[in-house]
Amino acid sequence: MLKANHRAWVEVDLGAIAHNVQQILGLLGPDTQLLAVVKADAYGHGAVAVSRTAVAAGARWLGVATVGEGIELRQGGLTVPILVMGALRQREEMAAAIAHGLHPTVCDRDQAYLLNEEATSRGAYLPVHLKIDTGMGRLGLPWPEAIAIATEIAGLPHLAIEGVYTHFANADEPDPAPSWTQQQRFAEICQALTAVGIQPQWQHQSNTAATLAGQFRRGNLMRVGLGLYGYAPAPHLQGILDLQPALQVWARITQLKEVPAGVGLSYGWRFVTDRPTRVATVAIGYADGVPRALSNRIAAAWRGQTLPQIGTITMDQSLWDVTTAPAIAVGDAIAVLGPTAMPPTGPR
Ligand SMILES: *Cc1c(COP(=O)(O)O)cnc(C)c1O
Repeated sequence: MLKANHRAWVEVDLGAIAHNVQQILGLLGPDTQLLAVVKADAYGHGAVAVSRTAVAAGARWLGVATVGEGIELRQGGLTVPILVMGALRQREEMAAAIAHGLHPTVCDRDQAYLLNEEATSRGAYLPVHLKIDTGMGRLGLPWPEAIAIATEIAGLPHLAIEGVYTHFANADEPDPAPSWTQQQRFAEICQALTAVGIQPQWQHQSNTAATLAGQFRRGNLMRVGLGLYGYAPAPHLQGILDLQPALQVWARITQLKEVPAGVGLSYGWRFVTDRPTRVATVAIGYADGVPRALSNRIAAAWRGQTLPQIGTITMDQSLWDVTTAPAIAVGDAIAVLGPTAMPPTGPR
């Protein structure tokens, strides 16, 4: 078996994750807990390892998209509460959620009735979080009807509404107005729920952007994803915390050549050299997750040098301009993504 790093590989710095968790916790009051969002294999960083690190650093909850992701964490030995943020539709996944002690999201009436039936047949008393759609338009009780439906769901004997939450559509936009509207709707719903005797222990609304932009840091649970991994979601949110990117993608050079000016490279010849150019073929492409749409727009790093990507990115290979790095050799690895690589630039 060849070593995994013979052509391209990912390195994850769990120390950076722990550091980021501590940074985020520094923003939260003593009665507020951090829910580490680890859906999609912890944004590609490895769900179990990231979850263990985040919990050890002080996160008290984990958040996933699917029941399968929650089960993976349970099998990895994680015992903290796990919120499933996606919708459960099938009885099998509801049964599995109950069996593994996951906390489902309830986003409509039918789903609540099915969950209640499933919980009843298993003699379980299932903690759920009600999701209110206050403007994202994706998942949740539509806000104008939320009180009526929530009241009905609260009457289901085997469901316990332990949380109520919403999700912002515009928290990472510089204009706060749309988020104010959503926050206002959510606050009114929470008040109205209290008035009818529904007082969930957890109220949550803040993703990374809302957690960073203090005006939308409300409730007693913060659902933070992107920030854990070291990124601020938008330029105006940078510098609020010292966040360290945790992931680095490396790929090896498989061929080097000198190309004169005026030569088209890769599919479509969408890049033409404008000077004699030293070109590196690198063993990473869109099948590895480097989007073809970023062709001619990204740069890698090698020993402090910036190496622009040139020509159409192909399935498992890509070309890079290494003219400024005369010492680079076949077999060297370049940093395609991560702290030392460059963010996407304009087209070249
Ligand atoms: C993905 C997700 C989050 C985390 O969002 P970030 O912007 O990565 O912090 C929070 N809440 C819900 C419902 C999500 O789907």
